[in-house]
Amino acid sequence: MKNTKELRTWLDDMNLDHPLVVAGPCSAETEEQVLKIAHELKDSDVNYFRAGIWKPRTRPGNFEGVGALGLKWLQKVKAETGMKTATEVANANHVKLALEHDIDLLWIGARSTVSPFIVQEIADALNGTDKIVLVKNPVNPDLALWLGGIERLYTANIKNLGVIHRGFSTYEKTRYRNIPEWQIAIELQNRFPDLPLICDPSHITGNREMIFDVSQTALDLNFDGLMIETHFDPDNAWSDAAQQVTPDSLKQIMEDLRIRKTTDTEADYRAELTNLRTQINVADNQLIGILGKRMKVSDKIGELKKDKNVAILQSRRWNEILGNMILEGESKGLSEEFVLRMFKAIHQESINHQKKIINS
Ligand code: PEP
Ligand code: MN
Repeated sequence: MKNTKELRTWLDDMNLDHPLVVAGPCSAETEEQVLKIAHELKDSDVNYFRAGIWKPRTRPGNFEGVGALGLKWLQKVKAETGMKTATEVANANHVKLALEHDIDLLWIGARSTVSPFIVQEIADALNGTDKIVLVKNPVNPDLALWLGGIERLYTANIKNLGVIHRGFSTYEKTRYRNIPEWQIAIELQNRFPDLPLICDPSHITGNREMIFDVSQTALDLNFDGLMIETHFDPDNAWSDAAQQVTPDSLKQIMEDLRIRKTTDTEADYRAELTNLRTQINVADNQLIGILGKRMKVSDKIGELKKDKNVAILQSRRWNEILGNMILEGESKGLSEEFVLRMFKAIHQESINHQKKIINS
């Protein structure tokens, strides 16, 4: 991607005074449902009305979308409300049908981005289109795979591009449905500062109560837009019920978000500071998470030692850890003194944990 500025043109041309907003139901269910939501979103910040027509479901047997019929409903949305339309495409036939029905924005879903075959098929089918094409991150945290998707589209002469961060799947249960690996999105932004970056807090959280906070974090990290699933009766939605918000809640969320405006140098400075502080917050949360994990492992070692009646302090092992970490720290620009102090504190906490277990 040589001239990355051209990647931004479509978004800059929209001249928005707020982040780009893509909203609408997870799935198009019925014509009435689609039109009712669209009319409720009509007088809001929403720029693109989304609805899934073909739904990739993790397990078969769930609602798999209404299919091409739903594209006609999206055309009605555009005719009746003036909102532009967006849907997910996952193969060449979807692309053909979506283009025939004049869908304005197409996105590649997380389950498709993982497959270079599928992405290539979609890129070939879209060759040269002036529609907007957004690539969701793959389900696994792999930046190269995500970039590969963008490169395939760019090479197929598609220039109105963007990416969507929808979080990554993890084996471990977390409070997120798909964990936001912010540093991956930040790295992508550093490499392609002109590539519009959109956050999908709905699929990140899986929970409507958390949508606002994740949206705010995204905006503080310089994201250009949000994709938020919206339904007039979220609890009875045919897919992703727990994460959808009502049109009124969406409007409230948009009103409450602190939106960065870069109008003067003071505002620029404050926006940059907020961005960097948010990155620090992300890193600090990760630090605490990883320390918690380390202590859990240490607890297990405590149990083992208790069973075998072994002493807590194993100084040879401890010196080995310290030596390795001092070297590792040096390569990351951390002083020996700092690494020593930090590991002494970690070690002490570990000993305290194990003592508790052995004495229990
Ligand atoms: C969706 O946007 O409805 C969807 C299926 O998303 P994802 O590909 O992120 O799972
Ligand atoms: Mn969904």
